[in-house]
Amino acid sequence: MKRLVVLGAGESGTGAAILAKEKGMDVFVSDMGEIKAPYRALLDQHGIEWEDGKHTEEKILNADEVVKSPGIPLTAPLIVKLQSLRKPIISEIEFAARYTDAKMICITGSNGKTTTTSLIFDILKRAGLNVGLAGNIGNSLALQVAHEKHDYYVIELSSFQLDNMYDFRADIAILMNITPDHLDRYNFEFQNYVDAKFRITRNQTKNDAFIYWSEDPVIDRELHKLRLGATLYPFGNNEDNTGRTNVAYIRENDLIVAAPQAEPLTIPTGELSLKGKHNQLNSMAASIAAQILHIKNDVIRESLKQFAGVEHRLQYVATVRGIRFINDSKATNVNSCWYALESMTTPTVLILGGKDKGNDYSEIDQLVKDKCHTLIFMGLHNEKLREHFSALGYADAAEQPNAENRFFDTDNLHDAVTNAYHAANEGDTVLLSPCCASFDLFHSYEDRGEQFMKAVREL
Ligand code: ADP
Repeated sequence: MKRLVVLGAGESGTGAAILAKEKGMDVFVSDMGEIKAPYRALLDQHGIEWEDGKHTEEKILNADEVVKSPGIPLTAPLIVKLQSLRKPIISEIEFAARYTDAKMICITGSNGKTTTTSLIFDILKRAGLNVGLAGNIGNSLALQVAHEKHDYYVIELSSFQLDNMYDFRADIAILMNITPDHLDRYNFEFQNYVDAKFRITRNQTKNDAFIYWSEDPVIDRELHKLRLGATLYPFGNNEDNTGRTNVAYIRENDLIVAAPQAEPLTIPTGELSLKGKHNQLNSMAASIAAQILHIKNDVIRESLKQFAGVEHRLQYVATVRGIRFINDSKATNVNSCWYALESMTTPTVLILGGKDKGNDYSEIDQLVKDKCHTLIFMGLHNEKLREHFSALGYADAAEQPNAENRFFDTDNLHDAVTNAYHAANEGDTVLLSPCCASFDLFHSYEDRGEQFMKAVREL
């Protein structure tokens, strides 16, 4: 009997364990942290042996194969040991995909994954397809493969999931963009992260599609190096980009999507439900995927107009005393904050800070100078922010309260929101778009967003 060890019992690990059990394997689940009660209950219900708060090596090193949670770094001692024993270590997606013939539509990138994934899911549902949503959002792919058996899966893939995928093949792979992120997990080598992202194209053949943002310099550079098997579907702001004709692009005020196998779709950008330049790109990627799947343009258009968006992504919270508050807590890297600032149409008070993942803030210098009169640093360690934005001409409000461009140094959400509120003028926007992970002060970016919205509503 094959012994499968699952390391990490969150959504994906628990799902993998259940699927493995149903396939008749000898399954053991081990989590160094505490397994949440609902997952413990599910494991018990399926008669699966588990432990938490430790890793018992005798029960792990005898595995035939290991499914690793994307949260566990490849450098963790146990993983290193398993590798030295040449035990195959795979991701939950790799494992689950062995047991389904469904069409796989996979989305990766540094930013825009969840939005694009959710939009594609919305289009496919509207088209009446039997579709599941998986990966970083929704229920695990493994659990859905075990119990729901969809014909299509729309899967959001992080670089950590891609790290342990080998035989998996995406029917449609989408790469939104690549900007430095998670470098702490990639030995501070950007190329390692780039390579992880490109694993989404692994095993693809010419019958498969690779949809990508052709104006991204990193993607463009890689495409000149690599020989991909898939059929390419580039998209971008301009119709023609360095000799490659984009399949989707903007012409004057229209978004046009013209996959070779479909009638061209035209929709005025003003009618798109998702606002901002970045969301035009997300809308393009999703529409190309839908056209490849032969979904009618009317259905795609309806979804593009009506899609409600995803929480914590440029989410409108409230207007208080003429000041608009926007929750973009999901902006956990500098590039996504760039797009958030880019879409601002009023003077802005920007709240940023948190757990820095090796950020280079100079990327947002110009937009900050153009749009933000006040910055609010919200984190346990604001030194790097202080230094960077002082050099850009922002004064510490504690020292120069009347300076035209100032920053406030805070270490909690209440002070951040109160300072932002007082610093903002009627007609301004207060934007929470932190550039950083949330773990210094919050449980998660969702927690940060929820607390922000609550504090705003209590103003
Ligand atoms: P991800 O799942 O990749 O983190 P999301 O769809 O959750 O991406 O969006 C996170 C943030 O990234 C948004 O709040 C927005 O500011 C920014 N963003 C969204 N789409 C894009 C894009 N195509 N390019 C750059 N930034 C984007």
